[in-house]
Amino acid sequence: MENCVFCKIVAGEIPSMRVFEDEDCIAILDINPAANGHTLIIPKEHRKDLTEMDGDLTGRLMMVAKEIGMRQKERLGAAGFNIVQNNGAAAGQTVPHFHIHVIPRYEGGTQMVSWNPTSPDTDVLREFCEILK
Ligand code: 5GP
Ligand code: ZN
Repeated sequence: MENCVFCKIVAGEIPSMRVFEDEDCIAILDINPAANGHTLIIPKEHRKDLTEMDGDLTGRLMMVAKEIGMRQKERLGAAGFNIVQNNGAAAGQTVPHFHIHVIPRYEGGTQMVSWNPTSPDTDVLREFCEILK
């Protein structure tokens, strides 16, 4: 897609640090990493977000994310890793071409993925359960 930064990276028009590539996707280092080794898994075909992804492609990219997470643990000494995947500007998506963040977590590192937990009444939870099921 024209003017899409990740389509340009896939096409080689913008340089990137590729750590993995197959017929479906590339995995590149994030230019502004949350931690050393922060990697993005990007489908070669343009999909704006998860709503445009089919199950097969999503599954294949998730297995690549698992492989990268295992490399972060085995080769970088990460204690764990986060999978983050933002959909829509309101959810923090800044590049509207689907991607999975694989963020290594190091022992004693900063909290990188967090939210403020709330304590709604059971009635409120039940209401949302009914709406969503
Ligand atoms: P989002 O906020 O859309 O979930 O994440 C987009 C990510 O893409 C950000 O973490 C940002 O640092 C990264 N990013 C944006 N432009 C480039 C680029 O040109 N090259 C690379 N390697 N990463 C980029
Ligand atoms: Zn694109």
